[in-house]
Amino acid sequence: MALRDRAERRLPLASPPSPIAMPFRAILFDIGDTLWHSRSAPPPAEFRRLAAERAAAVLAGLGLHHDDPATVARTAWNAMEDAMRRARATDLVEPDYGEVSRAALESIGLNLTRAQAAFLLESTYISGIEGGKAPFDDARDVLLTLRKRGFLLGAVTNRAFGGERFRADLRDAGLDIGWDVEAVSVEVGYLKPHPAIFEYALAGLGVPAAAALMVGNSLAEDVAGAQQMGIAAAWRVSPPDATGVVPDYTFAELCELLAEPDLEEAAR
Ligand SMILES: [Mg+2]
Repeated sequence: MALRDRAERRLPLASPPSPIAMPFRAILFDIGDTLWHSRSAPPPAEFRRLAAERAAAVLAGLGLHHDDPATVARTAWNAMEDAMRRARATDLVEPDYGEVSRAALESIGLNLTRAQAAFLLESTYISGIEGGKAPFDDARDVLLTLRKRGFLLGAVTNRAFGGERFRADLRDAGLDIGWDVEAVSVEVGYLKPHPAIFEYALAGLGVPAAAALMVGNSLAEDVAGAQQMGIAAAWRVSPPDATGVVPDYTFAELCELLAEPDLEEAAR
């Protein structure tokens, strides 16, 4: 892992000046493409088939019928994705996906309550192992080693579905390491890079920004989001999604974090 001068990110565009760096006590992790990946995901047609099957089952359970369950699933899903895209491009406030889905389904003649629409939408979400999610080989070991070194560990993740389903997916991936805080955008109400989701994580850990390191694969969400708060950031080198963002650390594989002198032991 290349340690960069921690002052370097104070170059133009990177972030406002932050206090003299202090030793780290906490490490925050992005999940998608940082701790797990979806390289073995089923083909899109299989996702669509499963989603249609589940939409039909949910409708049947509600005593409803639609001639084309694939359209039902796609309508709810597309509405969710559109709302998320709009939020990402504007205020970073998590939309009410149940309501978004309800309104979209109404437009194709299905009258559901918000809760029913939320349930249908979530039912069509093919997640976890079934969705092809697999942890990076070294993810669990790295997390457990950092914990042994005394670091508090937090998850800071953008996802439209939280709750028990997400926790089950984490368990299945071996990433249920007893997080000290879980900041899930749909539960917190804000998407990275909004400051509120990082504030939520820091408050949950009880550490100041300068004692935390954010680890993620997105320059826009993880690195810039953290740095604007005075949180240092380690970037898993990935196709860049922003320009002018300079990570404090870069790495290709998670295990490189363990060799980083600043992460040898947590500050007390
Ligand atoms: Mg990610």
